[in-house]
Amino acid sequence: MLDDNPDTPPDTPPDTPAILASYIICPSCGYCLAGLPVSGSCPECGKPCAEAVVPDSIYAAGPAYVSRVASGASLVLLSYYILIISIIVTFLLMIFAGRLGAMTGSGAGPMAGMLLGMAIYGLAIISSGIIRLIGWIRATTPDPALGRNTRTEKHRGTVRAMAITIFSLQAVQFVCTLIPFAGMLLWLAQFVCGIIMYVAVTAYIREIGRRIPNAALVRTARRVRVTALWTLMVSFVLFVILMLLFWISANTTSPPSSLADVYLGFAIVDAVIGGLVLLLLYFRVLGRFAKAMKAAKENAMAIHRSALSSPPPAA
Ligand SMILES: [Zn+2]
Repeated sequence: MLDDNPDTPPDTPPDTPAILASYIICPSCGYCLAGLPVSGSCPECGKPCAEAVVPDSIYAAGPAYVSRVASGASLVLLSYYILIISIIVTFLLMIFAGRLGAMTGSGAGPMAGMLLGMAIYGLAIISSGIIRLIGWIRATTPDPALGRNTRTEKHRGTVRAMAITIFSLQAVQFVCTLIPFAGMLLWLAQFVCGIIMYVAVTAYIREIGRRIPNAALVRTARRVRVTALWTLMVSFVLFVILMLLFWISANTTSPPSSLADVYLGFAIVDAVIGGLVLLLLYFRVLGRFAKAMKAAKENAMAIHRSALSSPPPAA
């Protein structure tokens, strides 16, 4: 498999190592480039080796760190799948129970379906929240090979802090849904924390992508971040304008203009569409993150195995 490179390496700058370290992976095909000259190219796909050398490679800390982050990314994704499936199941259960109740002619069907649906939904929300928290804590494991003051560390810290804060807010909200005003404040706090989390998550994933290195993941994280911020801004401005128009048409004419309902309807549609776009973009970047980390985990294992079976290159 491994080619013996017969060419003597040409002159390299004195500050770069002439031979690649054991954890250097080809960014386009994942081939282990250990022991090859920096000036060479990947024996599998021909990509220049120099492009594989990134500062703070995630493989430097060994396979335990990489697989921990990978399992965290998968758990976060799983938590969202649980949530989506539970919403669909709850919806179907309510419809099905309603039909059953109508067929039998008693009120027990829809009522039982409603309660069962609510129970499944509540259980799914709790389990999804706990799995997501564990996932984010694993996905934001500190890299033992990395210094404290790097960019990754800053984003990593923010993601972890926000994940814990949002989980706590949701837990409090779940307990005191009976206090309407507290509920509204909690929603607002979650909204603000959610936006901070969104920005930090995309920045953190971009950093991890740079350190794998995985150019596609970096691109996705950057695009999602830019598109999400634009979506948020546009739908927020539109929402404010529509609510202003609603307020004006509902309060300045008597009787209230019939346009008021139209403005309110558009404002709700705008908020729902904006939220859905943000969620879909979030799933996209999380999905890519989990996939990239799964591949990185396999690479880390392969590096570990080859490091155990062969002596380190004399350099
Ligand atoms: Zn390659």
